[in-house]
Amino acid sequence: MGSASHQLHLFFFPFIAPGHMIPMIDMAKVFATRGCKSTLIATPHDKPSFMKSITKSKDLGFDIDVVTVTLPLKEVGLPADCDNLNRVTSMEMRQQFRRGTAMLDQQLELLIEKLTPDCLISDMFLPWTIKVTAKCGIPRLVFHGTSAFSVAGTECVRLYEPHKKVSSDSEPFVIPNFPGEITLSRMQLQDFVKEETEFTKLMDVMKESEKRSFGVVMNSFYELELAYADHYRTFLGRRSWLIGPLSLCNKEIEDKAHRGEQASFDQLECLKWLDSRQTNSVIYICFGSMANFTAAQLHEIAVGLEASGQQFIWVVKKDPNVEEGKEEWLPDGYESRIQNKGLIIRGWAPQVLILDHEAVGGFVTHCGWNSTLEAVTAGVPMVTWPVAAEQFYNEKFVIQVLKIGVDIGVKKWVRWFGDSVKSDRVEEAVKRILVGEEAEEMRRRAKALAEMARGAVEEGGSSWSDLGALLQILRLQRSAHDEKT
Ligand code: UDP
Repeated sequence: MGSASHQLHLFFFPFIAPGHMIPMIDMAKVFATRGCKSTLIATPHDKPSFMKSITKSKDLGFDIDVVTVTLPLKEVGLPADCDNLNRVTSMEMRQQFRRGTAMLDQQLELLIEKLTPDCLISDMFLPWTIKVTAKCGIPRLVFHGTSAFSVAGTECVRLYEPHKKVSSDSEPFVIPNFPGEITLSRMQLQDFVKEETEFTKLMDVMKESEKRSFGVVMNSFYELELAYADHYRTFLGRRSWLIGPLSLCNKEIEDKAHRGEQASFDQLECLKWLDSRQTNSVIYICFGSMANFTAAQLHEIAVGLEASGQQFIWVVKKDPNVEEGKEEWLPDGYESRIQNKGLIIRGWAPQVLILDHEAVGGFVTHCGWNSTLEAVTAGVPMVTWPVAAEQFYNEKFVIQVLKIGVDIGVKKWVRWFGDSVKSDRVEEAVKRILVGEEAEEMRRRAKALAEMARGAVEEGGSSWSDLGALLQILRLQRSAHDEKT
């Protein structure tokens, strides 16, 4: 087959954590709809949920599949059920987990030799994949899973170290050589930026592998953050393609409900509950797949939500050791009091389905990038409550750049448990995002962005075109490779 008619085959290798796997699965589906063969790499444990997410695409005749690699859990000293980052409960386990993922190189190499893909899209947390792709002679694209704003902002802080020029942890600084006078404080930076840790070294390795890669793909769209996309491309010199919002490839109820884990609440029940509420009258509260809160903090949220008098859907991580309704954080008689007003989902919620419902008028979020972009895509303003990772950057983006949010007021980056926000702050922020002129104004802006998001992925839109340009370059790469061999 000549190169022009050759079907491009891409491998998609996510880091093994829900917030990384979900957008990568969506991405594989998007590439398949553009005529590529998409092969996702999963562990045997996660393969069934990957398969469930792609069943419909397969049924529609798109060329998409899943292959597996097995984590050497025993070798790194982890228990057999610890095969996803969301089951890791300590810093030490996190490091063991990372070591385990770095030992997948030979399995990846064998898969590439056997299935001969044209390109690997690798999660940034798998920097070692550059060695494998270099050895196998195929391009590697990096997927950070966050915005151009955050990637470029983090890089400017790393390069110019403004946090070393302030006199206290709380003194604000402006991110240097970065558009928009964005302010942060040392308290809001990740610990590995402030001090040398194992992770600092890993970040350096990741940056190095990124420079040696063919480019970067982002789950974002140009109109959302043009100044930052340009900055990343021109000032920081990274070849990049913005091809999102990827979640928009899920059009039907079933597609939206099958993202990530098995939902703990029937999607149709959830829709029925929302259908019976007025437009923009419900606040949705969810902190993603990783963030944890103490019982004391959950109690404050419960009290604040009730005091706000607003209707809500609140997703709380399930504690398998405690009976539902008997949790330590639950105020006495709470669930019977809120029966008609609120829904508590213990476990996993069909988030995109909920956000897309017209009854949802606000979202209390930890500012993980997937959640942030899903809210933008649904036209829903946010109460920002960042916890860890790059979430404080995403908060700045929502509040200072997009102006579609109210910040809850957390000041400090924490790796594990957030517990600093009092109930009156929850009450106030929830009311501010749902009712009044300010809320209306934010909602208008959010709805306009949502329209732009939809336009970006339609034929001829910015993300559609960026992806087309990327496919074209990959085809040229392939031709050059064929000519050489
Ligand atoms: N999510 C979901 N249901 C839940 C919790 C999370 O569908 O109950 C999805 C959410 O829609 C998003 C992802 O999980 O796609 C979380 O990614 P994000 O970047 O927001 O946060 P992380 O989990 O990585 O901290």
